[in-house]
Amino acid sequence: MKNTSLYSISALVVLALSGCAQQHQPDAAAQLNDQSVMALNWFQQSGEYQALTYQAFNTATVAFDQAPSLTGKPKAVVVDLDETMLDNSAYSAWQVKANKPFDSKSWSAWTQAKQANAVPGAVSFAQYVVSHGGTLFYVSNRDQKDYAATVANMQRLGFPNVNEKTVRLSTGTSNKQARFDVIKNEGYNIVLYVGDNLNDFGAATYHKGNQERRDFVNKNHRLFGTQFIVLPNPLYGDWESGMAADYNKLTPEQKLRVRAAALKSWGGA
Ligand SMILES: [Mg+2]
Repeated sequence: MKNTSLYSISALVVLALSGCAQQHQPDAAAQLNDQSVMALNWFQQSGEYQALTYQAFNTATVAFDQAPSLTGKPKAVVVDLDETMLDNSAYSAWQVKANKPFDSKSWSAWTQAKQANAVPGAVSFAQYVVSHGGTLFYVSNRDQKDYAATVANMQRLGFPNVNEKTVRLSTGTSNKQARFDVIKNEGYNIVLYVGDNLNDFGAATYHKGNQERRDFVNKNHRLFGTQFIVLPNPLYGDWESGMAADYNKLTPEQKLRVRAAALKSWGGA
């Protein structure tokens, strides 16, 4: 009897404690942000991240040199900006610390602060292309209202040829294909696309689910390293929204469920 009472009391204490624990569980929005911590740690701390970005730009340099020239068509390289040439991980870290979702207002404030760093190897690659007869086009989905701040940030970091002709920000759609076509129609031979998102290589995967995105990569696997150069970005991207239809319209709770359901797991020992 005595033991049973003790057991009951213990059970009540455990229940009470677990109740407390539940009260201190972060809400779903905070959990979404907290799931970025390891990706941010890797991005900001690991030598491996830097090694991959150098590997990407070293490969890009060889690919640029080896791309055949076309008579009368100057060689061009199209690069994305965010998480390709510019490191905005401090904005992502702020989201975690302040428990804020991504939104255009805070993103614009970050852009206006001009505190993005250069991705390792990006400035040297840009300078190499320009000093070897190529034209670099910076095609980004940053908003036009942030144009001056973006240009100032890039110039401070040492990117070459940053001007109205080469920096092409959002035209109202995040699909970059039309802007790529304009560059081609201006007479350029685009030999290389550099980006952290499959959309940086054309419209084929625009707003598509991850199965179609992976199919595109498998089908075009020979182009990676020769025409398409990919920078690693585990912080955000269309790979996340590619996990479910209308992912960006889901509630934080629903997003958490989609993320958990997407795990391919071993059955266990
Ligand atoms: Mg990007």
